[in-house]
Amino acid sequence: MTTIALAIHGGCGVLPLDSMSAEEWAEARQDLVRALTAGWSVLKGGGSAVDAVQAAVVVMEDSPHFNAGHGAALNEDGIHELDASIMDGATLEAGAISAARGIRNPVRAAHALMNDGRAVFLTGAAADDFAAGAGLAVVGQDYFTTQKRIEALTAMKAHAAAGTEASENEKHGTVGAVALDAAGHLAAATSTGGYTNKPAGRVGDSPVIGAGTYARDGVCAVSGTGKGEFFIRHVVGHEIAARISYLGETVQQAAEHVVHVDLAGSSQTTGIIGAGVVALDSAGQLSAPFNTAGMFRGWVTPDGRAFVATHQDVHEVQP
Ligand code: ASP
Repeated sequence: MTTIALAIHGGCGVLPLDSMSAEEWAEARQDLVRALTAGWSVLKGGGSAVDAVQAAVVVMEDSPHFNAGHGAALNEDGIHELDASIMDGATLEAGAISAARGIRNPVRAAHALMNDGRAVFLTGAAADDFAAGAGLAVVGQDYFTTQKRIEALTAMKAHAAAGTEASENEKHGTVGAVALDAAGHLAAATSTGGYTNKPAGRVGDSPVIGAGTYARDGVCAVSGTGKGEFFIRHVVGHEIAARISYLGETVQQAAEHVVHVDLAGSSQTTGIIGAGVVALDSAGQLSAPFNTAGMFRGWVTPDGRAFVATHQDVHEVQP
């Protein structure tokens, strides 16, 4: 059988167990399963890695439990500004949008832009206009807002006023996927609302090709989550690919080095930068390191076994 493989993440952080009810944890895990199923059925049907990562990310964008699409974080003005990107490892074609305010599924806009080919990256109103012109669903800001995100913004503003540190899960989150298709092609996609109380117009790493998202056939596909400023400075996705290409490291060695060594001590004020990635090589080998207490994640091995996890416990599921 030709090797196919898929991995997803739904953001990393402290993920305190009391931040969600038992039902909400179960729902979030179920949404990870649905995302895996969506991506896996594309790959099993002989579809492309690009279509598979889009299918998986759309499910997580539609879920209120992850910081992307419905349920995205609010910026300092109480506005949702959405970032997303997608990359085809076969051609190095990519599409990215940032600071969009009304695209229901930002990853679809990134994909449409990649197919359009006139630009790799559109921002702000231009990204929204492009999505509308491409016939994609455009919605009001209310669609993205959940009670949790309103409470998180209030909490972040209170922390800012009091000079105290917010918990990681009040701050950020992201969703992403990497896939290897039956033709041997790799792809990656990432989508996010950024972090709560971010400056208006701030763009994170998720739409920056080479930082939050990268795919190159024969090397690896990467999607990251964590404080975007550090992912941009370390050019994380491309750095992992470079370590594999130039140093001959395995995908595990390269991804773990970047997450556990490069991103450790990046900040003089906060020490280790909370970070995680999913990375897949062209043989279907997966690495999903994170340096926080947890990362929403899931994967399907080349033999079709599927797993989801939030903290250290790993649950086998039916894809
Ligand atoms: N990487 C995202 C950003 O900085 C946030 C996250 O993944 O937690 O926009």
